[in-house]
Amino acid sequence: MISFHPFPFPNPNPSSLYSPTSPPPSFPTTLTPLKLHYPKPKHPTSVRSLLQYNRKPQLSGETPRVVVITSGKGGVGKTTTTANVGLSLARLGFSVVAIDADVGLRNLDLLLGLENRVNYTVIEVLNGDCRLDQALVRDKRWSNFELLCISKPRSKLPIGFGGKALVWLVDALKDRQEGCPDFILIDCPAGIDAGFITAITPANEAVLVTTPDITALRDADRVTGLLECDGIKDIKMIVNRVRTDMIKGEDMMSVLDVQEMLGLALLGVIPEDSEVIRSTNRGFPLVLNKPPTLAGLAFEQAAWRLVEQDSMQAVMMEEEPKKRGFFSFFGGSCFWGEKGKLSAMYSGKHDLVKTLYLDAAQTTNLVLISPSIEVQQTDSTQLFLDPRFVERHGGKGKLND
Ligand code: ADP
Ligand code: MG
Repeated sequence: MISFHPFPFPNPNPSSLYSPTSPPPSFPTTLTPLKLHYPKPKHPTSVRSLLQYNRKPQLSGETPRVVVITSGKGGVGKTTTTANVGLSLARLGFSVVAIDADVGLRNLDLLLGLENRVNYTVIEVLNGDCRLDQALVRDKRWSNFELLCISKPRSKLPIGFGGKALVWLVDALKDRQEGCPDFILIDCPAGIDAGFITAITPANEAVLVTTPDITALRDADRVTGLLECDGIKDIKMIVNRVRTDMIKGEDMMSVLDVQEMLGLALLGVIPEDSEVIRSTNRGFPLVLNKPPTLAGLAFEQAAWRLVEQDSMQAVMMEEEPKKRGFFSFFGGSCFWGEKGKLSAMYSGKHDLVKTLYLDAAQTTNLVLISPSIEVQQTDSTQLFLDPRFVERHGGKGKLND
């Protein structure tokens, strides 16, 4: 069982990080020292680092950040990524418009559970049948998230619709009365034909979603070339559906292999998680799950990195711990690892939990370093995680049992 240590410090501005409708959780007003039952950390926690604990991610780059989520190959998780990263960004306080550019085969509305609320699409806007704000579907859970569909399901793309129309749309979103959104996410169709070209035209950065298999990688490589030709230089990748058990058995490429093959900055690593399929079918995006799931946490951290234009590193570790029960670290999330199976470690510059390693004696004591609290040491049953995760997910002190 994983239990969280209570967060001992007051949050200076908690409201921005929580639901706009529910009141922010109350934090203790007095500082209670952490009760450590193990040796003191080497580096003392500085005041500056404590303040960072409650910081919001710093939005870098000019707004709106127009990000296309693409892959080449179909079924690798573009729509899942758009929905989950989009809602995570909204939850972090940024305004987001997600455009489903998968004309004819749109399904972002289904994943978001908004299918019954899409009355108008961009095609009607362009025909003059409705206003742009009538086609924007505001999410009831997070009002700073809006969905825009290009066309009705199963309809064909009108001949005149192309990149220019999408650029016009992005410009119209910039000039809205409500103000310019922070992020415009474009869910790109599979393939590299007209629909792909249209979807990438207004974008100035791209998130390339791939799975660790050779077919997806070949398509991803081709797409990277096309994005670069189009002038999109800021390309980061998300490696989705990763299975550590298969990597260990050498039946799946590791994230490190993928990174070496594609040579792209890594935005996130998402594990294969049956919860993804469950939440897809329920129309309830994974990142809203309470308690959080592993894939949900990984998507959330990818969103955090996207905001800060940060990336992470994949590192392989070969250590075999001697005792039972430990945490492994995966895509910036914490895993309840299998006995003796810690094999991979990833960390990003701004990760909440920065890195994790076995202590020098190779026991089950692990050390987690976050940008906020520099060193926290755990024993095999205690884990120190950013309280935002704990509070945001209903104050549940457990990741999983
Ligand atoms: P795309 O938009 O690239 O075609 P989708 O996002 O629609 O791909 O995902 C395709 C399928 O893969 C969906 O059924 C989805 O639930 C499943 N899927 C995506 N990511 C994961 C994951 N990390 N673990 C398990 N299933 C996943
Ligand atoms: Mg899709």
